Amino acid sequence: MRVLILGGTTEANQLVALLANDPRFDAVLSYAGRTERPTPPPIPWRVGGFGGVDGLTKYLRDQNIARVVDATHPFAAQMSAHAIAACAIASVPLLALERLPWPRMAGDRWIEVDDFVAAAEALGASPRRVFLGIGRMQLAPFASHPQHFYLVRLVDPPRAPLPLPGAELIVARGPFDLAGDRVLLVNHRIDIVVARDAGGDGAFAKIEAARELGLPVVMVRRPLIPARDKVETVGEVLRWLGHDELPAERGV
Ligand code: NAP
Repeated sequence: MRVLILGGTTEANQLVALLANDPRFDAVLSYAGRTERPTPPPIPWRVGGFGGVDGLTKYLRDQNIARVVDATHPFAAQMSAHAIAACAIASVPLLALERLPWPRMAGDRWIEVDDFVAAAEALGASPRRVFLGIGRMQLAPFASHPQHFYLVRLVDPPRAPLPLPGAELIVARGPFDLAGDRVLLVNHRIDIVVARDAGGDGAFAKIEAARELGLPVVMVRRPLIPARDKVETVGEVLRWLGHDELPAERGV
């Protein structure tokens, strides 16, 4: 079965690992190309946009794709919308693998907002010491609020100067752990964290650390994605693909 996996997440990599040596599947993984050194997967892979809905529709047809698994990041809403449209046009079944949002727990001091502009405004007028763990593509709105100190954590060194003069930059690839993130927030005297509700384990440590330290978190809600079939676990994707091995035995 020709399967296109739209990737960029840990869950996509887990799915790829499980399909890699199964001769019933001929899967290809697609990366957006947002990180400079994506982990080379054990299956054929491609990098970069398809060229909108039309480009993806053509790709599905040219490559005889029989199923599409959208395992993109919850904030990659455009790619997900394009997948819904292209799969409908090309009559290719689509399933989204979408991890759960982070649970809000006792002790959390979240300020929930709809987008990154609202997140920047939620920091207020008085100068704060802000940790931005939101990815490099979402920094621009904070440039209009230069009264704050920003500590920015990115996966790759930025190719262009950050839009935040005076920001301190940390280049580090997750998963991050609670002890490390607690030390980071304390050492930089951070008094507020900005995060997006990505879900998953890899970036959760900053949320836990903020809770332990009693710090507020400006939490950007997930973007809306049109209705589609979706599941939360790799095991459910395998079942949808007709994989007959019990996922529990493979630890998924
Ligand atoms: P997006 O806004 O949904 O996608 C923009 C365009 O990038 C898509 O229209 C598509 O181009 C291309 N694209 C996205 N994912 C692709 C994939 N897996 N394979 C091939 N092309 C892909 O998503 P984004 O611009 O990548 O990121 C939006 C937010 O998600 C950012 O905050 C980013 O930090 C976060 N995020 C994304 C990824 C990721 O792997 N994409 C990973 C982690 C975090 P065409 O229209 O030309 O097909």
